[in-house]
Amino acid sequence: MRVLMVAPPGAGKGTQAAVISAHFNIPHIASGDLLRDHVARRTEIGTAVKGHLDRGELVPDSIIMALVRDALTAAKAAGGGYVLDGVPRTIEQARATYQIARELGMTADVALHLTADDEELLRRLLARALVEHRSDDTEEVIRHRLRVYHEVTYPIVAWYRQRGILVPVDAMRPAKDVARDIIDALEARQAEPRRPEETAPDDGWGPHPSGS
Ligand code: AMP
Repeated sequence: MRVLMVAPPGAGKGTQAAVISAHFNIPHIASGDLLRDHVARRTEIGTAVKGHLDRGELVPDSIIMALVRDALTAAKAAGGGYVLDGVPRTIEQARATYQIARELGMTADVALHLTADDEELLRRLLARALVEHRSDDTEEVIRHRLRVYHEVTYPIVAWYRQRGILVPVDAMRPAKDVARDIIDALEARQAEPRRPEETAPDDGWGPHPSGS
């Protein structure tokens, strides 16, 4: 099973990705966790990205895609399944992720879209801030991250819909109920015959929704 997750901050994508990872016994690749680990270890990457994380800005695509390439290569060696949590966040990342996955012969079966409204997300993130003390969980930074999600990340949902791999799930419910729906939807997908996407002659994206 190969899953990408597209979700606003606070929708529970980390929690649900962990459930998917355990259920299908596949690696959980979380870009935010990888970046925070670099920051904690004060690596060169960590030093380069700390400011972006603290401000709720997206990290440059080149850094993200290098992490994704390494992680997907490791996932391939571990059996080929994965749940990618936090990537892609931009159309360029979506395209680059597709290219890398295609090279490795492991394009996604499902793009899971978790939906929730902003007021609920803000409430959850402020609650998390009290517990986790993440440097990007202040109200101002949270509002900025939600704006970035709507402006830059949300448009990629349409592309996955066009590719026929989009699975939307309402994330405004208790995590356990959301998890059950996700697992049911993924199991149903897994039972379907494989799509011909891996052998598509073009890059598989179809026309850009805005016509450009
Ligand atoms: P997350 O843990 O997924 O909420 O990510 C936390 C922060 O890491 C984001 O606000 C960004 O600063 C950075 N980040 C995580 N994934 C990406 C990505 N795919 N592209 C750019 N920045 C990212």
